[in-house]
Amino acid sequence: MYALARTLFPLHRSMTGRGVRETLAILNESIPLQQREVATGTRVFDWTIPNEWSIRDAYIKDASGARLVDYRQSNLHVVNGSTAIDAQLSWAELKTHLHTSSQRPEAIPYRTQFFGDDWGFCVTRPQYESLLRSNDPSFHVHIDASHREGSLTYGEAVLPGRSTQELLIYTHLCHPSLANDNLSGIVVATQLATAIRQMNLHHTVRFVFAPATLGAIAWLSNNRAGLQQIRAGLNLTLLGDDAPLQYKRSRIGNSLVDRAAASMLSSGHLGSMIPFTPFGYDERQFCSPGINLPFGRLTRSAPGEFPEYHTSDDNLDFISSQALQESFEFCLELLQRIDRSIVYHNQFPFCEPQLGKFDLYRGYADTRVREEDDAAYQRELQTAMMWLLNLADGSRDLLQIAEQSAQDFDLLHRAAELLLHHRLIKPSPHTPPAESGNPT
Ligand code: ZN
Repeated sequence: MYALARTLFPLHRSMTGRGVRETLAILNESIPLQQREVATGTRVFDWTIPNEWSIRDAYIKDASGARLVDYRQSNLHVVNGSTAIDAQLSWAELKTHLHTSSQRPEAIPYRTQFFGDDWGFCVTRPQYESLLRSNDPSFHVHIDASHREGSLTYGEAVLPGRSTQELLIYTHLCHPSLANDNLSGIVVATQLATAIRQMNLHHTVRFVFAPATLGAIAWLSNNRAGLQQIRAGLNLTLLGDDAPLQYKRSRIGNSLVDRAAASMLSSGHLGSMIPFTPFGYDERQFCSPGINLPFGRLTRSAPGEFPEYHTSDDNLDFISSQALQESFEFCLELLQRIDRSIVYHNQFPFCEPQLGKFDLYRGYADTRVREEDDAAYQRELQTAMMWLLNLADGSRDLLQIAEQSAQDFDLLHRAAELLLHHRLIKPSPHTPPAESGNPT
């Protein structure tokens, strides 16, 4: 994951343009990505896809021709989405287009302007001071950029499961050379897709890599008809720093993904859970009132709440392999837990089924258990089976059954595997209304 982040780091991603496509092409070497293009001018809900932005070079030169600020040194030096300029400007004219970070004066801030008609440079405070002190009568300011008809690009990978019900993993990919936000989410999601391809999951898992805000809005607009299939969704980002993992609840508050995250609080790997707010990342699109998907967010630090956020200090030194690996392992466990929390129907609801007929009353047809001859485990498993048979009436998923019965989730899952094998229970094709939102 760290090596992939290092490969992707220099690419100049933006809301539109080549950097996003180059990033998707590299991800496609590991996972089967479909690249989607949404043409300039396309209406997506209340928004319109703008012209595509391209940039080739940018600098501020002094009278001697030296590049005092150089795009080739860092793509953060140009305000992302800047219009073109090539002019000799006085200090008074130039300084109104310069951005520095008051909190991180030594770093280059990350700034964007996607919907205005302006340009700008982002510089460190020392760079600003040296421009100020240079006493040059004018500076050669050059941004070789264009806004032309094109498209907004996103990528998705669909990994089919046994069911058409879906789990959605989303991450934004529009930031240039910044590591925690958003390369950490991209590489963890890619690693999850790589792992899930080798697994036999119940749910179909869909991965979406899209530019923040407008990419999520375009994806939702294009996929409105399929939203009913989404049983749980998760926004992954900020997963490479050393803060503890934090889960932000969906707008629904107690949907499957929220309950699955809550059930992992005791594991010690999840530091905290916070309630839904209509701020932050694209969870606010997935949890807008008309969409209202069961969609949570997993980060370590929260956006805007760490000093390196949106500056050149959010670089490859700020993230670690170890943090990425821990985040990945937690995500995989969370996804497996969600995947296993199926809604079941007891196929023999009229009084108890005769478990002896299925060899489930004594030995449970479980060779692993028999070899261990663990009588206590067998008793526990039988208890779990009785709970499951009683509560599997199509109104609850396995996590809810675990909560109501106070049975261990993994034990209930083992009981479900045995009962499924003997066709005593069946997965429900429907999501109980209370569990999902109300997509319209
Ligand atoms: Zn950001």
